[in-house]
Amino acid sequence: MSGGRRVGLDRCSPRWPTAASPVVAVIGDPVAHSLSPRLHQAAFDAWGLDWVSVGFLVPSGQAAAAVAGVRALGLRGVSVTMPHKAAAAAAVDVLTPVARRLRAVNCIIRRHDQLVGDSTDGEGFVQALASQAGFDPAGRVCAVVGAGGAARAVVLALAEAGARRVLVVNRTRRRAEQAAALAGPAGEAAGPAAVADAELVVNATPLGMASTGRQPAGSQPADQLPVAADRLGSGQVVADLVYQPAITPLLAAAGQAGAITVGGLGMLVHQAALALTSWTGQPAPLDAMWAAATS
Ligand code: NAP
Repeated sequence: MSGGRRVGLDRCSPRWPTAASPVVAVIGDPVAHSLSPRLHQAAFDAWGLDWVSVGFLVPSGQAAAAVAGVRALGLRGVSVTMPHKAAAAAAVDVLTPVARRLRAVNCIIRRHDQLVGDSTDGEGFVQALASQAGFDPAGRVCAVVGAGGAARAVVLALAEAGARRVLVVNRTRRRAEQAAALAGPAGEAAGPAAVADAELVVNATPLGMASTGRQPAGSQPADQLPVAADRLGSGQVVADLVYQPAITPLLAAAGQAGAITVGGLGMLVHQAALALTSWTGQPAPLDAMWAAATS
């Protein structure tokens, strides 16, 4: 059986995988919690492809070696998670325009003999907003809380989707300014009070995340809100990039205040769908991926 061909066999075929089965992977540290292999595999099964997705625990500082391994082993694609997004950007052959601006990669695509680094987080987030809340950032005032890798991807994507203002609120002001600069004239570093005026509020900090081993030592308790509850209200869409738990303390508070809420799982599913499409050339089976993400 040649790799990547549509085959119409039952997904449980004992003939799969074979030595010819194409392999994709997620690299990160930690990686055991990652839903990526499950999402990828759900798509391969729905497509009837004999592709396989696995996770590799790659310690900090080893991203370049891992990317060399991707070349040597002929992996078809790689999802890149913490802490390797910046190092992977430096290790691939080519960057897409978005990855070049972010200097970060969450997805590696094999194109002929080259490894292309892309960032699908921001576009995945905007797609999730559209599909889960019918929200279009064009002409809107958006506030992003946090200024790390995920926040930067979201800030750039909101600006590219036509947001009128992208306010970045972060405990380290300098990083807020750097992230806001990605949005060009629409971007602005702001204080926490600015959230009350935003039509879209995005939590891009780890506050509210259940313990998965991803929080840095000494991080805040999972019930701490990234935004004061009295700054949330009806007329707002409140999105959390945290997806574990599905209903974070922020989303619970926002729902109580009458806001429309969007959990982080949608971004995870949509960024993976964009990666899968780049790897295979096929539109991703979102329903199957959602089912896998929530099962
Ligand atoms: P990161 O690069 O480490 O950035 C974290 C940001 O949160 C920084 O701006 C940091 O502020 C801020 N922060 C951290 N702890 C804080 C605290 N106790 N109080 C206030 N601010 C705090 O992390 P990241 O990669 O951007 O990820 C951020 C979150 O998004 C994580 O929960 C991650 O799981 C989630 N995420 C979700 C998806 C998805 O698909 N749903 C994708 C990517 C990331 P300073 O700048 O002051 O340090």
